Amino acid sequence: MVIMSPVTAYYSEKLKVIIAEKYSRAADGGVGYAKAAGNYAAQFYPTNLAREKGFHQVIWTDAQNHEFLEEAGTMNVFFRVQDTLITAPTSDRILDGVTRKSIIDLAHAKGIDVSIRKFSVTELIDAHKAGDVKEIFGSGTAATVSAISGFSHNETFYDLHDQSDSYAHLFKGLLQDIQYNRSEDPFGWRHKVL
Ligand SMILES: *Cc1c(COP(=O)(O)O)cnc(C)c1O
Repeated sequence: MVIMSPVTAYYSEKLKVIIAEKYSRAADGGVGYAKAAGNYAAQFYPTNLAREKGFHQVIWTDAQNHEFLEEAGTMNVFFRVQDTLITAPTSDRILDGVTRKSIIDLAHAKGIDVSIRKFSVTELIDAHKAGDVKEIFGSGTAATVSAISGFSHNETFYDLHDQSDSYAHLFKGLLQDIQYNRSEDPFGWRHKVL
């Protein structure tokens, strides 16, 4: 069964997120990679706890050690460290989102360095302390690109500052211009519905 429904943009403000230290969204050997209805139940409780603490979403980490950064809410997640864009490789816990793939293609086309690798919480915090974390954003069809304003880990909040050359803003514009037929589509993503 395929269920469809129109939705508005999920998030209009920048998101404050908390990095998961206890709960997991998806398990090894599970269906975290699929857009299956049963995929979403596990996150309601930890997301509600995050909301009670004043956060919009949870950044999910690996289920074993909560060490590697995986997804943001129901979005894939990108980290801009200096001018390199980092995102986790897909796995059975990470959904292989089309928006993630599109952003990787757009970044390549714009000459932006993309690093698809495991990225740990420790590395993120060290890079933040060094002043190298410029942006974090989530990607998904409903929200396109959602900028993150800061993240919390181990009771510490790490702020992110607005970037005048924001990648989140750039990719959202480029992607929506292709989606809405406002620009050329050099990738062949658009198909005419006959
Ligand atoms: C939908 C979804 C995404 C984003 O996938 P898109 O194909 O870009 O919409 C990422 N993670 C999860 C868990 C999702 O449900």
